[in-house]
Amino acid sequence: MNYHPPADLLAGRVILITGAGRGIGRACALACAQHGACVILCGRTLSHLEAVYDEIGELKRAVEPLLLPLDLSGLKSDACEAVSKAIRKRFSMLSGLVHNAAILGPRTPIAHYPEDDFSAVMQVNVQAAFVLTKALLPLLGAAADASVIFTSSGVGRKGRAYWGAYSVSKFATEALMEICADEWENLGSIRCNSLDPGKTRTAMRALAYPAEDPATLVRAEELMPLYLYLLGPDSRRVNGQKFCASNWQYSSVAASD
Ligand code: NDP
Repeated sequence: MNYHPPADLLAGRVILITGAGRGIGRACALACAQHGACVILCGRTLSHLEAVYDEIGELKRAVEPLLLPLDLSGLKSDACEAVSKAIRKRFSMLSGLVHNAAILGPRTPIAHYPEDDFSAVMQVNVQAAFVLTKALLPLLGAAADASVIFTSSGVGRKGRAYWGAYSVSKFATEALMEICADEWENLGSIRCNSLDPGKTRTAMRALAYPAEDPATLVRAEELMPLYLYLLGPDSRRVNGQKFCASNWQYSSVAASD
């Protein structure tokens, strides 16, 4: 990726990342903090979030992050409103929202796919992103320019056997992104895009492909130029697009169109 943002790219921005305690979410939190953002570390396991909090504390000149433990599996609008209230009190706006947390669910033919697992995957991967986006919309609207990233997958763009609810949830994620991008286009200040990270060396990938050699996969840190581009001012006019980290190249001409 040929995008080399300055160290202060995200200075003054407040960015909430779900699933910030591990994998791609952790790398995104560290990259955002390294580039000047105040990061809201949102996730299920407090010890994972605290570890990232400490890592950010060790970075030079990083803004102190905010810890936000939140289990997306039972997430309802009242909890999201409480989150919104807490962010409003401290920052009065939100300039970035990265819907990153997800679960894989079983890799099983539809004929045998358990209904409870289907619902659980849809709840964490789609319903939670919906209620959180809805509750945080006024704060996103209060930022000078705000960016929402919906995390997709290859199977969110082409269904494949045995990917069950995970694939369905990622198609739904793409639809949610397109609807939000279209509805908020006229507001002019909130952009929404989806991002397929591609094959990345994380716990989820190892769960999906246990026989694969992790050394053959890209590290989450290598994806960060695209995340930074989408969260920073260079993507201000980019809305409703579907990005794929494995083939993305930065074009300064396209960015200034
Ligand atoms: P990981 O499994 O490594 O991390 C998932 C993160 O989601 C963890 O931080 C986890 O929190 C959080 N999470 C899971 N369930 C919940 C919940 N109920 N409430 C709150 N947080 C939760 O996944 P990756 O980093 O690999 O994936 C990140 C995103 O990228 C996902 O959307 C995934 O679908 C997508 N993706 C990944 C690919 C890959 O190759 N890795 C390929 C294509 C897409 P906790 O720390 O508490 O467990």
